[in-house]
Amino acid sequence: MAKELPNDADREIDSKERSDKLLKMLIKMREEIVKEAQKEIRKFKNGEKKQIVETVLDDGDMSFVDLAEDISLTQLSAHRDKLLKIDEAIRKINEGTYGICEECGDEISVNRLKVIPFATHCRDCQEKKEILEKIKQMEEQSQ
Ligand SMILES: [Zn+2]
Repeated sequence: MAKELPNDADREIDSKERSDKLLKMLIKMREEIVKEAQKEIRKFKNGEKKQIVETVLDDGDMSFVDLAEDISLTQLSAHRDKLLKIDEAIRKINEGTYGICEECGDEISVNRLKVIPFATHCRDCQEKKEILEKIKQMEEQSQ
């Protein structure tokens, strides 16, 4: 795996160049996730789980299709979530709204974007969101 990390990252670069770099990075991330997902699908098709599918097939039960979809969906849902986030980030770069918090409209810090390139909220809003979600969950549980 070739990693290209330029040393001139600290130098001032205009935003066009910056979004080009980001796009390239996100597309590369996307490709790697797709590769990883394909590997898992192949493993699932050739590996031990194939037997489950074949056993079900021998019984003449056509629900094996559902079973296959269930397994791959569970295994792949994490990849799929990430892909959706990356697609969203790519869309935002093209729209020119990348790096802007969806909640408060402030710019998301560069440091945060370095860690989470597909972040959609600034740190404050993300924390608020998580707290609100927790409260919501607790309210739902107590009902
Ligand atoms: Zn915000």
